[in-house]
Order: sequence, then structure tokens, then C-alpha cells
Amino acid sequence: MRELTGKPVAAAQREELARSLAALKEQGITPGLAVVRIGDDAAASMYGSFLGKQAQAAGLFVRYCEYSAATTQREALACIEELNAAADIHGILLLMPLPEQLDRQALVDALAPAKDIDGLTPTQVGRLATGRSAFVPATAAACLATLRHYDIPLAGARAVVLGRSDVIGKPVAQLLLAANATVTICHSRTRDLAAVTREADILIAAVGKAEMVTADMVREGAVLVDVGIHRRGDRTCGDIRPDACAKAGTYTPVPGGIGAVTTSMMLLAVTRAAQEAG
Ligand code: NAP
Repeated sequence: MRELTGKPVAAAQREELARSLAALKEQGITPGLAVVRIGDDAAASMYGSFLGKQAQAAGLFVRYCEYSAATTQREALACIEELNAAADIHGILLLMPLPEQLDRQALVDALAPAKDIDGLTPTQVGRLATGRSAFVPATAAACLATLRHYDIPLAGARAVVLGRSDVIGKPVAQLLLAANATVTICHSRTRDLAAVTREADILIAAVGKAEMVTADMVREGAVLVDVGIHRRGDRTCGDIRPDACAKAGTYTPVPGGIGAVTTSMMLLAVTRAAQEAG
């Protein structure tokens, strides 16, 4: 069995990050990240402060923008416009979910594409879809960075992506396609799911359902990438069952797999935005 653990991948990304930060420092530039939290979602709040601390520890400048759950669309837009114009901010992370009264799409569309380090704006989505350099959602980028770090052959491989969300399933499928894999995307309406997933040389599970992928859904020799993170009693698990991982033979563990790489990808994206803003 081969575990594709996230730590060595993150360590390699951190080295690249240190090199980029040093080069920027010579030019007198400190990359700046704005973490925007609107409302009081506990998970968003935890993720935002975790990411902010990691960014500060790495040497980035971090600005926290915190707004109450009663924030209006106009106030949220004003915040984004101010950050779009701020010279010390190179990347804007708009934490989700947003309060119900806000129009998520309109707020995402208002982000300056050059500061959209999470790759959510139509500009960045379009750049990715047309094979140009783009900011990509960090978790999707972490999946590809992990496969590449472990030299998993992608060109010509049959890749199946389980999940079609804008933040993981679709961008990861685009990245695999750009790497010349033959890609199938599955979702809740896919017929005979197990027959499709069994075809995969590489299976990306981003379905958000604890241990949904069972051993009969994978084939021996497949590479499994598990994006899911769930609590089951006192243990943490992914979207894929351990017996499916054992059958396939090569897999990313949960915890300690893709989640460990995601933060580094985000920090790298902020430094790239700072380099491009020059
Ligand atoms: P999401 O928006 O809920 O999307 C889930 C996708 O799975 C949807 O496309 C859905 O299909 C599909 N799906 C649901 N049930 C299915 C079923 N029974 N059969 C086939 N497809 C099914 O979730 P997400 O935001 O992409 O997140 C996925 C997972 O990643 C979650 O567990 C989340 O916690 C985790 N996550 C991990 C990280 C990390 O750093 N590792 C970061 C973010 C999120 P429809 O489109 O048809 O509804």
C-alpha cells in the first residue's frame, strides 16, 4: 500500500513560498491577504483565523475584515470594492457560507480578478477552462500538486471526479484535463456510479458524504484522492472507506492528505498575485 501523504507536498510548496517571498522582499513587497468573514458561521470563522495565522507565520501581511450576519449587500460590496483598490492587499478570500440575504454570485463577481486567489470569478474560471494560467480553488490545486509530487502519471490516464462543485469538482476536472487525462465527472444524477468509478485509474472523491466510496466502487491499482473531511464519533474520515483504499493500493489519507496541502496552495496564490501586481 502507498499513502500519498500531504506533509512532504506541503513542505515542497513551503520552500517555493519562501523563495517567492524572498524575491518579493528584495523588491520591497510584502504580499497582503484580506480574509473577509461576513456572518457567524463557526467553520468559516475557524478556517479564516487558521489561514490568517498561517499566512502571518509565513511572513504575509493579513487584514481581517469581519462583518455581522445582518450585513447588507451594499455594505458587503463596499468592503470588496475597498479591498480591490487597496494597494497593500494582493489576495482576497471571501469566506463561505454567506448570510442568506446576500447575493453570493454578485459578491464573487465584484472581486477584482487579479486579487481572486480562490479562482471563483468568471475571469479566473474562464482562464482555467481555456488552458491559460489562472488562480484555482486551493483544494483543487492541492489535488493536482499531490498527484504531481508523487509522479502519478496523468497523461492518458482515465480520471473520474466524484462531485461537480465550483470549488472542487469542476476545477479539479479542468486541471486533470489540462494535464491530458481523460476525465469523467460524476454527480448525484449519475447512473450506475460504481460502474463509472471502477473505470478510474485516478479517482478524486469530492462528494461531501462520509465514507461513501466503497471497495466495490474502485479497482485494484487505482490511485484514490480523498478530498472529504468528516467527523464520525471520535475519528476523522474522508469520502472513501479504508477498505476501498486498501483495495486500490495508492491513496491520500484523511487526515493528513489533501487538507495538509490546501493552505500552502492558498499562500502561494497570494504571493503569485503580489508578483503579478509587481
Ligand atoms: P458540495 O458542494 O456539497 O458538492 C458535492 C458534490 O457531490 C455535488 O456535485 C453532488 O452532486 C455530488 N454528490 C452528492 N451526493 C452524491 C451521490 N450520492 N452520488 C454522486 N454524487 C454525489 O461539496 P464540496 O464543497 O465540493 O466539498 C466536497 C468535500 O470536500 C466535503 O466533504 C468538504 O468537507 C471537503 N472539503 C475539503 C477541503 C480540503 O482542504 N480537503 C476543502 C474544502 C472542502 P450534485 O451536484 O448533483 O448535487
